[in-house]
Amino acid sequence: MRGSLAAAPAALPVPRPAEEPAEPTDPSAAGPTGGESPTAAEWAAAVAAIKNLPADATVLLACHVTPDGDALGSVLGFGLGLRRLGCRDVRASFPGPPEVPEPFRTMPGLDLLVPADQAPTDPDLMLCFDAASAGRLGELADRMGPTTIVLDHHASNTRFGGIHLVDPTAAATSVVAERLLEMLGVELDAEIAECLYIALVTDTGSFRFDMTTPAVHHLAARLLATGIAPAEISRRIFDSRPFGAVRLFGEVLGRAELEPSVAGGLGLVWTYATLDDLARFQQRPYVLEALIDAVRCAEEADVACVVKQVGEQEWAVSMRSKGGVDVARVAVALGGGGHRLAAGFTGRGTAQEVVAAIRRELNAQRPEDQG
Ligand code: 5GP
Ligand code: MN
Repeated sequence: MRGSLAAAPAALPVPRPAEEPAEPTDPSAAGPTGGESPTAAEWAAAVAAIKNLPADATVLLACHVTPDGDALGSVLGFGLGLRRLGCRDVRASFPGPPEVPEPFRTMPGLDLLVPADQAPTDPDLMLCFDAASAGRLGELADRMGPTTIVLDHHASNTRFGGIHLVDPTAAATSVVAERLLEMLGVELDAEIAECLYIALVTDTGSFRFDMTTPAVHHLAARLLATGIAPAEISRRIFDSRPFGAVRLFGEVLGRAELEPSVAGGLGLVWTYATLDDLARFQQRPYVLEALIDAVRCAEEADVACVVKQVGEQEWAVSMRSKGGVDVARVAVALGGGGHRLAAGFTGRGTAQEVVAAIRRELNAQRPEDQG
């Protein structure tokens, strides 16, 4: 017999469990600086700020530069929710070039997006998603007024903005966004659910990573019950890329280096991709986001890095840990941020110089510091 969820008609909503299972209590799971979940007062302040808005208020939703599935999914899902509440002037934006990566181009709510230079300068309310610091909002940071709600799940969040809904125990920012939508009385529909599901599968690595709690699966069940198509979504977001990108991956993976002695013997595996690589294979930068998942498979290394050229002497660095090393510490030390097991920063110099800085930082961290 098929499971009752699979057999359930799409329109049948899955209720939130009366007793939501506890989130992980291991403080190391929260990241390098620990961090508390939002208080009842913080939730209430956010709900009040939104409920008190007149219908013609200008609302700006923003997420971090080079948005990933969690950033875009949270922004668009929440933006659609605000529309359902009757907000007429909802705009969403992210800093930098206003290019939506190909895998996200069929997401619901894309019509909410405006280029950063067209984002309202003085919104009545601003909401920021998945950004650990104001710097991650680039040129949109100066749009923040007295009423700014920050929805995030980075333990390294700097507590910028006015109302903080920062939950380091949440698997994705979309978990925080969905909770606020529920408190506002917004019912999940298939469009909102698709956005929030993309966010959830992105940040949980399709329910493989350590924050994949029972509550995450309960949320996934509620999202799927709206009738969205998980296989089609996953193929589009994770398992689909141009043939040129397949060949580019071959070349970039072929130059990966394994350094078993780094990080007190825990090991580092790394590779890099240049703008010239992208040009030779006629690929857009977004295709490189999936590289880290191929590199981190190397079982001989706890830490994996991909160094992606974004300018003459500028590199976007993705780091992952299997648990032995807190890569958020490394990223923060090098000017970036992230989570204990997934973090990043912008490096300067040559690729080799950027890797040398990572190696130095990994070797400097004493094993007893690690979570
Ligand atoms: P990814 O490697 O997937 O780009 O990012 C992994 C994690 O590190 C995400 O939580 C992301 O927000 C964070 N991250 C990546 N790059 C940067 C950066 O340049 N600065 C900061 N503060 N965080 C970053
Ligand atoms: Mn996230």
